Amino acid sequence: MKDCLFCKIAKKEIKSMIVKETNLSLAFLDIKPLTPGHTLVIPKRHRNSFSDLKNDEVLDFYKVIKNVMNTLRKKLKVESFTLGVNDGKHAGQTISHLHFHIIPRYPEDKGGSIHSIVNFPPENLEEIYDKIKK
Ligand code: 5GP
Ligand code: ZN
Repeated sequence: MKDCLFCKIAKKEIKSMIVKETNLSLAFLDIKPLTPGHTLVIPKRHRNSFSDLKNDEVLDFYKVIKNVMNTLRKKLKVESFTLGVNDGKHAGQTISHLHFHIIPRYPEDKGGSIHSIVNFPPENLEEIYDKIKK
């Protein structure tokens, strides 16, 4: 997509520090890493959300994530990771081209877990479950 930063990175029109590349996906270092080794994985085709990926892209995307994790484990001696996507503006997505964060976690990084992202009043589990299953 024209004017999309990550499309430009995928097409090598903008330079990035590439960790892994396939026909469908690209992994590169985040320009403002939260921890050493913080890597982003993107589909090469423009997709806004994870739920927009085609099945062949999903498989390739996850293979690249797994491969990058193993590289970071080995090369940076990383044991733990926080993995995730800010998917949509209410989740904090700032670039509308899907990007999966692989964030290596270190003993003294002082970060929280995925449970610290949001704090909402307790839900009625059965009501939500009914809505999802209907
Ligand atoms: P979001 O908040 O949308 O989930 O994450 C966007 C991420 O993209 C941020 O972590 C930010 O540091 C990273 N980023 C923004 N611009 C660039 C860039 O030009 N190059 C690289 N490598 N990362 C970028
Ligand atoms: Zn794009």
